[in-house]
Amino acid sequence: MALNIQIIPVTPYAQNCTLLWDDETHEAVLTDTGGEAEYLWQLVQDKGLKLKEIWLTHGHLDHVGGVVKMRELSNNVPVIGPHEEDLFLLEDLPNKTREYAPQGFEFSPSFLPTRWLNEGEQVHLGKYVFDIMHIPGHTPGHIVFYCASEKLLIGGDVLFKESVGRTDFPRSSTEDLLHGIKTKLYTLPDDVLVIAGHRDPTTIGHEKQHNPYVRG
Ligand SMILES: [Zn+2]
Ligand SMILES: [Zn+2]
Repeated sequence: MALNIQIIPVTPYAQNCTLLWDDETHEAVLTDTGGEAEYLWQLVQDKGLKLKEIWLTHGHLDHVGGVVKMRELSNNVPVIGPHEEDLFLLEDLPNKTREYAPQGFEFSPSFLPTRWLNEGEQVHLGKYVFDIMHIPGHTPGHIVFYCASEKLLIGGDVLFKESVGRTDFPRSSTEDLLHGIKTKLYTLPDDVLVIAGHRDPTTIGHEKQHNPYVRG
């Protein structure tokens, strides 16, 4: 009996959508359904899981571009997060997905989540509790999902293996990003696994020692 984790890179940017499921209840959550909704939905069906919610870290197209399609396929599964400060990105999704069509992105209408999330709130999957931390900087409404009992962080585009999220977007802030990593992520235990939005997972301890942008 455990929390199961499968990382599924989607979209031309190989964004790490994550399927989390609980063996006991067969309940599942998908994080950052950026695209390839039909494929993700089939995966959920093949495993015999019941999709409970979609959780979103932030509003960039490679993280949210498949949400509307997934809602259709799943008969309106609730969409939880990100923080409301990313509303402008969700509103701009039709423009952004049109602009990036040549790179292979599918068009997405704009949407509103079922519920925004704030610092200090919690979301649940079976018996597993995830604490929400609001870490602006990459985007103003970026949140991360932390499960203390499993030492697991769904981190989106905040902290990468030996790197950090880009801050060259409108309403980005390098100062906010590095401050959030230092004060919120680097206070977690060293053996917490960080599933980042792109590329390989890492741990808090590895980044405190080796991250060239922010050391513990
Ligand atoms: Zn991003
Ligand atoms: Zn990304």
